[in-house]
Order: sequence, then structure tokens, then C-alpha cells
Amino acid sequence: MKIIVLGNYGPYPPAGGSCSGYLLEQDDCYILLDCGNGVLSNLQHFIEIKDLSAIIISHLHSDHISDLFILRYAWQMEMAKDPAIKPLAIFAPGVPKAEFMRIPYKDVFMLEALDKQKEVQIGPFSFSFLQTIHPVPCYAVSIVVGGQKKLVYSADTEYFSGLKDFSAGASLLLCEANYLEEDLQQGKTNHMSAFQAGSLALEAGVKDLLLTHLPAYRNGTLYLEEARKIFPGVSLAEEGRVYMCGSSSENEASLKNWVQLDVETDPIILSLLEGRLKSEGIPVLISGEALGGIYGLTTGPLAERKILVPSRCLEEAKEILLDIESQEPEDLL
Ligand SMILES: [Zn+2]
Repeated sequence: MKIIVLGNYGPYPPAGGSCSGYLLEQDDCYILLDCGNGVLSNLQHFIEIKDLSAIIISHLHSDHISDLFILRYAWQMEMAKDPAIKPLAIFAPGVPKAEFMRIPYKDVFMLEALDKQKEVQIGPFSFSFLQTIHPVPCYAVSIVVGGQKKLVYSADTEYFSGLKDFSAGASLLLCEANYLEEDLQQGKTNHMSAFQAGSLALEAGVKDLLLTHLPAYRNGTLYLEEARKIFPGVSLAEEGRVYMCGSSSENEASLKNWVQLDVETDPIILSLLEGRLKSEGIPVLISGEALGGIYGLTTGPLAERKILVPSRCLEEAKEILLDIESQEPEDLL
């Protein structure tokens, strides 16, 4: 199973950033988990809008739903173009009622309230939910594929012990970390600290931890360092990045449409290349980082880092690489 981060900030983004949104992919089934501002634009770097199978919304705060109000125009046009396209299924908490009632638009969405529904099955995905501690009803989401708990998404929440059992044994915990410990000490509520996210990952025995719902006003490295004090297998969820959840053999199978670029291992070249590819809308997967488990590829020294792109983008990616490599080193900085 792949998870593609389409937005990782909360409650508002910095310049060029986007709020919560994660695309799950398995067997050509695409589920969008939350739909904050900027997500619809980023989604189209990876799939066509009409390829979406369903949307699951954790809660009705604007940084998790605002692009639904734009998506409805796109889906309306898709339905008008192709009669085979049905209303898009959206599962969301039914409260606050006024917010919930803002979502329906003509016959474009098939909206279902999550409150009474503790399980949802869509294609290969089984979703189950746990209400969190947040100012509006909010649900953490567990995602099981093929009988294995691939991913748990904390959604927005304060830390509470129920999250531990809910997250137990997941391959990947995608956990909010809107605060540092110093914020909690100042009495801030409604969200978790990076340290709490690390503690939860440790207690729940998950393989890897991705921190998300990061604030726009601080450097993410501070969050990474705080969580790393207790859980080494932590990374920041990065917009535009593809992460793999599952065993190595499954990951390799689901990477069949990805190819490796023959690239120098110079870190400057690598980071320039990644930036250029992303800005051209080419999905990028880098192996050999801290997230070896998630990528399912061997974590190794810098010399073993590999950069992968979808095979359909290979020629375009090669041209960008040639362009970067043809520049003088001083021009690159
Ligand atoms: Zn929220």
C-alpha cells in the first residue's frame, strides 16, 4: 500500500504549502484521507480527479475539508462528461451539523455520516475509527489491507491512552504533532506534541512514524528532534512524497511501475533533482533514508541512495537530470 502526502500543515500552511490530505493507493483503488486546502491541486500530480474511489474525512475543521468545496465543481464536470461516473462517496462525521450540511452539492456527493459507522470497506481497504479528543468530533483511522494493519492516522487529537491499542502493531503511524513539549507546558490543548507522538509510536510498537499536521510558524526539524529522543524511526511527512507501508516483498511488487534513475549520489544533486521533479509534477520516491522500513528498500549509506520515478515519467525525469548535471557546480548553489 502506498500513502502519498498531499498536505502536511495545520491549521494553516506556509507559502507554497498545503493542509491535511493523504492519498492511499492499493490495487488501483484511490482513497483520499482528509481534503484540506491545496490538496486538490497536489492530487493531480499523481492521479486524475475522476480516479478517486472515495474520501474519508476525520473531522469538520476547515484545514481538513476546505478543498471539498472546490472538488464539487470538478466532480460535477466529470459526471457531466461521462455518465458512467457516479456521485463521489464521502464519509465524514455528522457533527457539527451546520458544517456537515455545507458539504452536499447538487447530486455530486454521496455523503455518509461516520458517527454510527465504526467500519467502512472500500475496495481492498478496511477502515475502522476511534473518536479522539478534539473540540469537534474527530476520528482516528485504522487502515487494514489483506488482513494486515498497514496504517493508523491519528487525525487531530490530544494524547490519550486509547490511541495506543488502536495503533498497536501498525506498519506506519501517521501522527499529528502540532506542538512541542514546551507548548503543552504552557497549557495548550487539542493537539499532541512531537514527543507524545514518539511515545505513542513506541508504546504501540509500530514500525515507522511520520509526523504531520505541522505548524507553519516553526522549523519542522525541531519536531523531528523532539520525537527522535524517544523513537528513532521517525520522519516528517513531506508534501509530494510517496511512502510505502508493508513488507519488503509487497513494496517491491507495488513498485513495479517505478523505475530507478541513474543519478549521482551527490546530496546537492539529489535534492536539486527532487525539487525540480516535484515542481514539474513528477512523483518522487527516494530510498535509503531513515524510512527504510516504509520504503521497503534497504537503508544504506549515502552511496546507496536511489531515486525512483513512475516509469511513465522516466524520459521527462532524465531530461531534467541531464539539465542539472550539465550545469557548473557553482551555478547550482
Ligand atoms: Zn482540527
